[in-house]
Parts: sequence; structure tokens; C-alpha cells
Amino acid sequence: MSQETRLIRAGSTSGDLVKTVGPPIQRGSTVLLPCAEALYDDDAYLTYGRAGLAAHDALKSALAEMEGASGVSLYPSGLAALTGAILAVLKAGDEVLVVDNIYKPTRRFCDQVLARYGVAVRYYDPLRSPEELLASATAATRLIAMESPGSLTFEMQDLAAIARLAKARGILTLADNTWGAGYLFKPLAQGVDISVQALTKYVGGHSDVFMGSAVANDPALVRQLEDGVHNLGWAVAAEDAYQMLRGLRTLPTRLRRQGEAGLKIAAWLAEQPEVAEVIHPALPGAAGHELWARDYSGACGLFGFVLKPGSEACANAFLNALKLFGLGFSWGGFESLAILCDPQLGKRKFAPRYAGPLMRLHIGLENEDELIADLRGGLDAYARAIA
Ligand SMILES: *Cc1c(COP(=O)(O)O)cnc(C)c1O
Repeated sequence: MSQETRLIRAGSTSGDLVKTVGPPIQRGSTVLLPCAEALYDDDAYLTYGRAGLAAHDALKSALAEMEGASGVSLYPSGLAALTGAILAVLKAGDEVLVVDNIYKPTRRFCDQVLARYGVAVRYYDPLRSPEELLASATAATRLIAMESPGSLTFEMQDLAAIARLAKARGILTLADNTWGAGYLFKPLAQGVDISVQALTKYVGGHSDVFMGSAVANDPALVRQLEDGVHNLGWAVAAEDAYQMLRGLRTLPTRLRRQGEAGLKIAAWLAEQPEVAEVIHPALPGAAGHELWARDYSGACGLFGFVLKPGSEACANAFLNALKLFGLGFSWGGFESLAILCDPQLGKRKFAPRYAGPLMRLHIGLENEDELIADLRGGLDAYARAIA
């Protein structure tokens, strides 16, 4: 054979791979099939790499194990998992009930995209009882999209009760379970049909990879979600799937450490004179604590607190005085972060009212006493600013 042809074939087969603790990072659009008959036998063969290869399969099977799911779909971001799963189950003429504390970009998708495709969107108060919520459903209601706790205001919903009542009416339920990370809370075991999470947050754990997952148990629903990914043409990179699986290995350890440090810091904040209220469902006595205690095996490191009354400029003085907490959105990584939430509450229909500025903290893996000292410095700056 000529040198050109030999160079196309050389080194093309991997042969038998040695076994490592992680999956091989297999890259490929083309999948070579064993015989002509296999080319059009989609049921028996994977025929194209977009559906995912070795690393994707390994990640999917680990996520299925964690969430108690029979099927897992992967998406290029957490937001894509939410929009993809919602699109996969709705059609023109349907109505979706969306919790008012839903992740803000999901809300923008509902308002800007679903509405344009003839799906009616109705927002409901997260504090509404499951009975009242289902009483408000109509013959057109096809889906209830939930998030509990909300990632800014942390209201808890009784997902098991909503799922049970919805099922009796033939209405699907979907939960954004990013706070529970698929580990602290298991939506499918509570009867929720579709559990979605931004793997970008805790599963990735290092604030450097985007990905989302949607998992389900009902075979028809699993198929519908997979078809949704296929129809929209989404794919994730093998390297990213590998990174997510690597993150999953340390998820329990990180969550335990970050959840415990978060609770310690939340309890400390509750004692500080500049703090009006701590909003953390795992804190005894806090709103939603009974539901959290019933449904969750632990807490993550994300919670909120309300400062005593002060202007936005004063809240910014608190943030600007912090040295260890980074100022940034997102969460779930190894680093501590802080933001002011108030500017994000404007779109809400049922926004809670607070005594002062609402702050959100993400507790990372730093030493918690040093984080507390940093927050004390911020509160000193706030006390000076409001004086
Ligand atoms: C970050 C986040 C998402 C979106 O995840 P991306 O990977 O950033 O698209 C969805 N839901 C919640 C609750 C989030 O915090």
C-alpha cells in the first residue's frame, strides 16, 4: 500500500485497553460498524458518536446508580437539561405550572420560547399547598416544573405530595435538583417523574465544566428525553464527561464537608447583630426545616441571609470587604462565593419580602473559622456603612 493509505490506517485501532480506574476517553463522530447489516440497525448498534461513547456511558451509569434511575440523558449545560427536558414532554396547547422561585434563566426560556411555541406558562407561589396547586391545574396542564429549595430564596416544597397528586391527574412532574446534587435528595424515589440537575455545580465541583442531566424511570419517558436530545442535536465532549465522573467520586466527601461548614457558618451568622435572618432549610427552626429533615440526608453549602435594613450601596460595602469569598454567580465548586440577590428578585410574581438586603453565600472547602473571620470583616464594614 502507498504511504498515504498506510498513514490513514496506521494506529487506528485501540485493541484491548488496559484497565484504569477511570473510563477511556473515547473520541469519535464516526463509529465503525462490524458489517453492512449493522449500518441501519439502530436498535442493536450505536451508529454515530454524538450519542456518546465510553466516557459518556460510564458517567450515565454512575448517575443512574446515584439517582436510582433507569435512564440518563446528558446535556451541554444545566440550563440545556432544563430546557431540553421541558421541550421533550410539552406540545402546543399544553400548559406548564412553573414554581415562581425557578432558576431565572429557566424562567426566561419559559417566557421567551415556550410562549412562542404555544405553551401556556403559569407561575405559582412555592409556599402554596400541594392541594391548592393541583386544584388550580386545568385539563391543559401537562407539567409541573419545580425547584426545591429555590436557589436564591430557599423555599421548600413538598415534592412527594405534589408528585402524588399530579400523577393521579396524569400531570408530569420535573424537579431541578441542583441543590440536592442527586445525592442529598432523590426526587425519583419521591415519585417525581424527571429529576434534572446542573452537573456544572456540585458534581463537577471545580467550577470549570458545563453539563446537565435529566433522569427518569418510566421507559417511555426515558425514550422521550433521549429523543429530545437527539432532535435538538446536542452532544457533550468525552473529556467533559470524564471530568464529571471524576467529580462524582468525591461528591459525597465534598458535600459532607461543605454542608457541615455551611451549617456552622449559618448558625454563627444568626447570632450576629447585623443579621436579621438566616435562610437555610437545614437550620433548625428555619422555614422549610421540617420538609428538609423529612426528605434530605444532608445539606450542601448554599444558603442565604438577610442583613438588617440598609441600602444596596451598604450591601456592596459588605461584599467589597470580603477577602476570602469571591464575588461571583454559580456555586458547587471548591471555592466560597457571595452575591447580593435583590436585583434578581424583580421578575418574581410572589417574591418574599425581607427586612434588608438578601445575600447568598456558597461555602467552599476553605477553613471555616477563616471564612467566619472574613464574614465578620464584611459585617463590620456593613455596620460602618449603615451608621
Ligand atoms: C446553575 C444552575 C442551573 C444551570 O446550570 P448551567 O450548567 O450553568 O447551565 C440550573 N439550575 C440551577 C438551580 C442552577 O443553580
